Amino acid sequence: MDFDFTKDEILTLVLLQDAETQRVKIQSSIDTLLEEIETRRAKLLEQEELVKRAQYMFNEEQKLYREKEQEAKARQDLIDKNQQRISSIKTNKEYAAVLREIDDQKKKKASVEETMLLSMEKLEAVEKQLLKVQIAYTAEEKRISEETEKLLKEVEEQKKDLLEAEKQRTLSKEKVPQKLAQLFERVTKRVKPPILVSADNAVCSGCHMNIPAQTYNELHKLNNLKLCPFCERILFLNCILEEN
Ligand SMILES: [Zn+2]
Repeated sequence: MDFDFTKDEILTLVLLQDAETQRVKIQSSIDTLLEEIETRRAKLLEQEELVKRAQYMFNEEQKLYREKEQEAKARQDLIDKNQQRISSIKTNKEYAAVLREIDDQKKKKASVEETMLLSMEKLEAVEKQLLKVQIAYTAEEKRISEETEKLLKEVEEQKKDLLEAEKQRTLSKEKVPQKLAQLFERVTKRVKPPILVSADNAVCSGCHMNIPAQTYNELHKLNNLKLCPFCERILFLNCILEEN
């Protein structure tokens, strides 16, 4: 298949492809930066989860300790109340009952106090853990926010470049003749970029196969574009485009 185009027309297509390659490269770089930001955000969220969990455990243990404290106080109140009753007791039977009640409350209070001691130990341990993860989180948050700020600045810069590349692409596109654009479109549907490839030294730079001598010779004729017989990309010769 032969395609007749002027050298200048082919050149517009080369420029369009360059602009498109540049645009894709910048977009991919932006995507990578955004992924890096997201990875950091996710990492910080994980750390935040650790702080929340440690805080929850501390709160729960503190609640338990306070409940036991209340219970110990309630038992002590009962002991005090019963002891106050002793002076007004009339019978031995009643006296024995009150003493039993006091003894019972004392035992229960002692057991609660034992639990409180264990709870206090645990509370100290979870508080230590909470402080540790809080400190780690604060440091990580500072580091990540600094890094993210830098990355975002980089993204902003690249977005400006992207706009510029898009502008260049639009400008180049306007200059490409319709027939050539249609050919480019058609080939684009069949192969991966680059679509337009140089074939200097009789090698297709798209698939790296040696192109037949006849095809290569015909490429030297002015106004001639050919497709690579192997990968079907559009072939052109740099040496011809560079000639005046
Ligand atoms: Zn090829």
